[in-house]
Amino acid sequence: MGGKKKITEVLDDTCGKIFYNEPMSQHTSLKVGGNADALIVIESEDQLMQIVGKLKAAEINCLPVGNLTNIIVRDGGYRGAILLMSGLKEINCEQIPDGGHYICAQAGAALASVVGLSAAHELTGLEFCAGIPGSVGGAVWMNAGAFGAEIKDVITEVALLTADGEKIILKKEEIVFSYRRTVLPPEAIILQARLKLEKGDRKQIQDKIREITQTRREKHPLAYPNAGSVFKNLPGEPAGRIIEEIGLKGKACGDAEVSFMHANFIVNKGNATATDVLALISIIADTAKKEKGIDLETEVIVVGEN
Ligand SMILES: Cc1cc2nc3c(=O)[nH]c(=O)nc-3n(C[C@H](O)[C@H](O)[C@H](O)COP(=O)(O)OP(=O)(O)OC[C@H]3O[C@@H](n4cnc5c(N)ncnc54)[C@H](O)[C@@H]3O)c2cc1C
Repeated sequence: MGGKKKITEVLDDTCGKIFYNEPMSQHTSLKVGGNADALIVIESEDQLMQIVGKLKAAEINCLPVGNLTNIIVRDGGYRGAILLMSGLKEINCEQIPDGGHYICAQAGAALASVVGLSAAHELTGLEFCAGIPGSVGGAVWMNAGAFGAEIKDVITEVALLTADGEKIILKKEEIVFSYRRTVLPPEAIILQARLKLEKGDRKQIQDKIREITQTRREKHPLAYPNAGSVFKNLPGEPAGRIIEEIGLKGKACGDAEVSFMHANFIVNKGNATATDVLALISIIADTAKKEKGIDLETEVIVVGEN
């Protein structure tokens, strides 16, 4: 009797905007990936709680995502629901009597909007995020960083939805941050982050943002779909340099190619599949191990079925 319910039986009109059997290649920044059983656009915390409750009760997987700029979904797609947090995008700027300046941003807010708002309020500390194409939730989960700074440097609190459906707030001291990963309770969904910034000089902030954006334009292959840095850097040794030294710049699998401009980027020259990208990742990792004895670890997150 019964058996496991199908996702279409678990979700209904009250769950908001749902796209069934949705090609993830239309959503990932690399433009690769198979179909997700469902992609749900999250518009409010209440809706999120309701949906997660229903999916958990039916033992259906779910995966929160921001702007999918650091994810590879395998070509077999994702069994379960991808929760696109893009509707949770409120950002507020607060000044409290001790003189502290804070930005509270919901998980789906674009980092670009947060950087823009902080600059408009003459707040410094987030300039390093200029040009990172992700969301606040993705940046917190990945402990996104660049130019010697990381999102952990400005975080004071993170609000989460726990696996038990409870909303909790963790203070910075209660969170373990590492290089490109933040350790959070299993299956927690980031709802919001509170960031502490400093009052700065408008011109200096704008100049810094301009300089960083320019550097990215010069160094990153932005003309092609990509997912940013594929591998984590090693202490004092950028992964891009290692990949260049082992002679893999320009190496291709199908339409996936190690960028000539920056060897730690894999670009999609047209019709690459996730299989092509993952084959190229394996070649890079195997060659680095064989030729230099180095274990390269991926920064990009790989999900889904083969
Ligand atoms: C051109 C380019 C340049 C980049 N430059 C940088 C850079 O300089 N520094 C850097 O660190 N990164 C960089 N990235 C990678 C990426 O943009 C960042 O890691 C970004 O923070 C990911 O955000 P996202 O919203 O796209 O996350 P997604 O790719 O959607 O998700 C990434 C991970 O976070 C999890 N996640 C997302 N939202 C939530 C949530 N609300 N709750 C729980 N988990 C969540 C997902 O499940 C997934 O595991 C770059 C990418 C590109 C394409």
